[in-house]
Amino acid sequence: DAKEKGRNNYQFFTPALNTTAQRHLTVANRLRQALAHDEFALYYQPQVDMESGTILSAEALLRCLQPGDKAPISFGAFITIAEKTGLILPIGDWVLRQACLQLKQWRDLGYADLRIAVNLSPRQFHQPHLLATIEQILGETGLPANALDLEITESVLLQRSEDNLDTLQQLNDMGLQLSIDDFGTGYSSLAYLQRFPVHALKIDQTFVRGINQNLNDTALVTAIIAMAQSLHLEVLAEGVETEQQASFLMSHGCRAAQGFYYGEAVPAKTFTRLLRRQTAHMPGVQDSNVRRK
Ligand code: C2E
Ligand code: MG
Ligand code: MG
Ligand code: MG
Repeated sequence: DAKEKGRNNYQFFTPALNTTAQRHLTVANRLRQALAHDEFALYYQPQVDMESGTILSAEALLRCLQPGDKAPISFGAFITIAEKTGLILPIGDWVLRQACLQLKQWRDLGYADLRIAVNLSPRQFHQPHLLATIEQILGETGLPANALDLEITESVLLQRSEDNLDTLQQLNDMGLQLSIDDFGTGYSSLAYLQRFPVHALKIDQTFVRGINQNLNDTALVTAIIAMAQSLHLEVLAEGVETEQQASFLMSHGCRAAQGFYYGEAVPAKTFTRLLRRQTAHMPGVQDSNVRRK
């Protein structure tokens, strides 16, 4: 015990840990600054129906803007520290509001069935004000609840499961869509999937990458699609990068996908052009999103 303590004390002063602590501080300060000075931006990645090419939804992905011409940084690099410091709560509220305001603009342009997907981290999911915040944002934007798709990870389902069930039930009662992100990487069992009111599974990109390359990945993708079908859940494949992956998925009954093959995450203006181009240049394709006013 004393030895353990001694070792911990010693470790506290090692350069490695100091560097970690320093990075923690630097990132936390950077996030606070970005919040205060409006240096966040949402990028949007299309979620498409593979058969028709129709854009069904846009996933909002957070970027931290950089000074000058430097490329914005993915929020993925900051998420752990944002969670630990609690900064994820104000940041997450900003994301929800911004994403809904943007979807409202697209719907007003005529893309009336377009939907938006927003990522929710575990801490956001467990905050008491989540439902009130979402209700307020829907009220402000006038969007129906079913326009919003919340992406949560399996770890959210595993922690504090009775509370979770309550929250999920209430979100479901409001009419929101719930998807499990990175599906297959966590530990959710069939029992969980039956018990929680979720609507869709997003097959994690690591498995999609292994399609036709790795027997285990290929088997897992096939099994997840079959499982989703038998549980009457929608299924979307993440990280689709090749035509081969797309055709494998379609031939196994998965219709929805996102990934570089269909388009990376882009700023809102560029996404608007994607929507327009789809309408203009795909006359053979039923654009179910466009309802001209
Ligand atoms: P995610 O929700 O699973 O998002 C998918 C990530 O995969 C995105 O990275 C996306 O740009 C990337 N991606 C999409 N298609 C492909 C592909 O074909 N190939 C490859 N290699 N990658 C692809 P991004 O934007 O860096 O986001 C990383 C993670 O950060 C997200 O994973 C999500 O967990 C988290 N995140 C992003 N924005 C937010 C946010 O607003 N709130 C929260 N709580 N988390 C966020
Ligand atoms: Mg996601
Ligand atoms: Mg994912
Ligand atoms: Mg992920």
